[in-house]
Amino acid sequence: MDQTLDISVVVPLYNEEESLPELTSWIHRVMVENRFSYETILVDDGSNDRSWAVIQELARENSRIRALRLNHNYGKSAALDTGFHHAQGQVVITMDADLQDSPDEIPELYRLIRKEGYDLISGWKKKRYDPISKTVPSKFFNRVTSWMSGIRLHDFNCGLKAYRHQVVKSIDLYGEMHRYIPVIAKWNGFGRIGEKVVEHRARKYGSTKFGWQRFVYGFLDLLSVMFVTRFKKRPMHFFGSLGTLFFMIGFAIAFWLSFEKFLGVHKREVVDQPIFFLSLVAIIAGMQLFLAGFLGEMITQSNNRKTDYIVAERI
Ligand code: UDP
Ligand code: MG
Repeated sequence: MDQTLDISVVVPLYNEEESLPELTSWIHRVMVENRFSYETILVDDGSNDRSWAVIQELARENSRIRALRLNHNYGKSAALDTGFHHAQGQVVITMDADLQDSPDEIPELYRLIRKEGYDLISGWKKKRYDPISKTVPSKFFNRVTSWMSGIRLHDFNCGLKAYRHQVVKSIDLYGEMHRYIPVIAKWNGFGRIGEKVVEHRARKYGSTKFGWQRFVYGFLDLLSVMFVTRFKKRPMHFFGSLGTLFFMIGFAIAFWLSFEKFLGVHKREVVDQPIFFLSLVAIIAGMQLFLAGFLGEMITQSNNRKTDYIVAERI
């Protein structure tokens, strides 16, 4: 992989025609002032406005602009994933297209990754210019994610982030997973995660592309992230141990009830005791869980495991 560039700026965009000229020329200015070699990768996530035409125009004027157009609107995670796949810079910086993030942050983000040795720096919009319907749920969201993942960040969903090259290559994104990139990175073994307060602005053109659904899907995706990153490579450890536990409890109760019956401890029939039914449920649930673990294990086995383990260095 060619890594001669200092920085790749990855910009996912969906219907952002008005912002693009200003954004790309601002990025260019910052790069030139700081003598960075760079590329800007614009990923058009199936826009249905004039974004792609604008991008073609911009790419003609500036050879450092590269662009990819997805055939329809897959979502921000897919757009980022595509950009990550094509990024060549030693440091990869993601940025929203709507001018809410400032390219002026780039030099400091670059320095933190290259000089301070961070794997990932997440922006923190300490002072936000968003409606309250967004800031309050977002605060709650960040608390929960931080608590569940053990990563002390204030603003997981900030679009402005910087990564070491290897980190973006290790991440597969889909659904709404872009909110949890730090969590995924950490579980991939890139634990040096930092935070930088960044300037935030109100959206200048266009409107937000996310509605209230972001909270529902976002939460479900958090559960997936936690689960998949922890147990992907060993589903049997989770399902198997839980299944065995359930089965043992159920079996022990059923055994005890039969034993009592056999000794004639009391006159009640086995089926007259509610706990008997509980034991049956536990036995069946236990077997189901065990089976789920087994199936998970087989799926893991048959999956392409090319990208499963990340090689840290090569001679
Ligand atoms: N975006 C995208 N695909 C989508 C939705 C959004 O690429 O399906 C881009 C969007 O163009 C912007 C970034 O993701 O560059 C963040 O979106 P937005 O500003 O609407 O989110 P908000 O700032 O409201 O969280
Ligand atoms: Mg925005």
